Amino acid sequence: MSITTNTITTTTQFEHWIGGRPVPPASGRHLDSTSPHDGELVLRIADGSAEDVERAVIAAHQAQPAWGRTTTAERSRVLTSIAAGIREGIDALVELECAEGGKLPAPARTELLIAADYFDYYGSIVRTLAGDTIDQGPQNLTYTRREPYGVVAVITPWNGPLNQASRGIAPALAAGNTVVLKPSEFTSGTSLELGRIATQAGLPDGVLNVVTGLGPTVGVPLVSHPLVRRIGFTGSVATGRAIGRIAAERVIPVALELGGKSPILVFADADLDAAARAAAMSVLINSGQVCSATTRLLVERGVQDELVRRIGAILNDKRPGEDFGPIVTPPQFDKVLGMLATAEREGAHAVVGGNRYGDGDGAGVPERGLYIQPTVLTDVKPDMQAAREEIFGPVLVALPFDTEDEAVTLANATEYGLAAAVWSGDTARGLTIAHRIEAGQVAVNGGVMGIETPFGGYKTSGIGREKGIEALYEYTQLKTVSVTL
Ligand code: NAD
Repeated sequence: MSITTNTITTTTQFEHWIGGRPVPPASGRHLDSTSPHDGELVLRIADGSAEDVERAVIAAHQAQPAWGRTTTAERSRVLTSIAAGIREGIDALVELECAEGGKLPAPARTELLIAADYFDYYGSIVRTLAGDTIDQGPQNLTYTRREPYGVVAVITPWNGPLNQASRGIAPALAAGNTVVLKPSEFTSGTSLELGRIATQAGLPDGVLNVVTGLGPTVGVPLVSHPLVRRIGFTGSVATGRAIGRIAAERVIPVALELGGKSPILVFADADLDAAARAAAMSVLINSGQVCSATTRLLVERGVQDELVRRIGAILNDKRPGEDFGPIVTPPQFDKVLGMLATAEREGAHAVVGGNRYGDGDGAGVPERGLYIQPTVLTDVKPDMQAAREEIFGPVLVALPFDTEDEAVTLANATEYGLAAAVWSGDTARGLTIAHRIEAGQVAVNGGVMGIETPFGGYKTSGIGREKGIEALYEYTQLKTVSVTL
């Protein structure tokens, strides 16, 4: 079979990727994917249904035994080739993610290079995959094996399309599973491209399948399919709960990577410029549409005004379309504006930003562009909606504290627990605070997180861990074998 590179033009029509080839939807229908930058049509994706899910799951089921029997070295070679394929096609992938999701080219490129790195990383560490031997006496040999589940469903959101898909797919494939991926209906392009890249890289047909469409018509039949033996989901809490219920009914494992309302704690002895840059970045990167964005600024009272002034000085300089992108869809855009209006009604004040970009403000935003000003809210009380709920937009809410205990109490006063940041000139204090915060990852003074560091939520932010060697283990099930000698 020969596969050619898709030339992606505006209005390219994508089909599902099943069994190593493009497959049109059984419904014959396609969905429009439009640009949040200007509302223009970008491409069309297959409008999937249970029938398409069935084809994909069967393809994955048939491909799994052979893929699961390959050596880790063989799987490693294919994963490394996929990483190379992503890097080779990076320009087109960047263009697609910018057009569909409103990303800016430079951060999109970084995210996509990390997508490639996931395949390299899991392609490498899978060669260390090993069980244990357990001493049961001299007349016995007992050992454990890490075996794949079989067919795995991976469901992703729109905000880091190929990056988040790769985060799940790479360890799943490395462990010997086959995958059916359902990307977000708003940003499916690069996931479909990954199907083609993987096939060209030598991944056997059916090992990775991509079915596009809506949650109820593709996501639900996929997680409900009796041949799907594990689920990796990234997205909202509401959808995570719905999928968790189905997984519980079916008694299959599910990893849920959900939302957040992550705090950034800044003490008076911190490097305030560095803390201000970090806080500003939390609303600039992807316009705050990042699950782990630290958008709850908890600041020691004595330096609150100065810190907010420094953050404002950074944000006021930034230009829409150049330094930050749009909000992904009109409903999400309206939701963020609605939350800003509620915050104001409840007594908060926007000391920076606070509005959409509109006609005649000189910002050069297209008429249908979904851009919101990077915003800092002060006079926020812990019980206000803006302090409690995930906004998923460029909005930082500032709350002052007086003592360490109060800072920790505020940090933990949320149903979420995905990430946190602590800034203090006293590193020992930073670490002590980090240990007291209920979150899956805490960065002290800009501590680095990467592919190697486990990632996942405490509390309602999720179940399970992605990244690191933990994710590889998550996609395996442990078998104990014992023989009498
Ligand atoms: P979403 O839950 O609306 O959709 C996520 C995916 O689930 C999409 O592919 C969607 O089509 C699908 N889906 C929707 N309903 C479904 C159903 N009933 N059954 C199966 N699948 C269904 O989330 P979103 O709006 O795309 O993403 C934003 C959310 O994702 C935010 O809450 C954000 O915090 C979270 N997120 C979390 C992480 C993380 O790693 N923890 C990363 C990125 C985003």
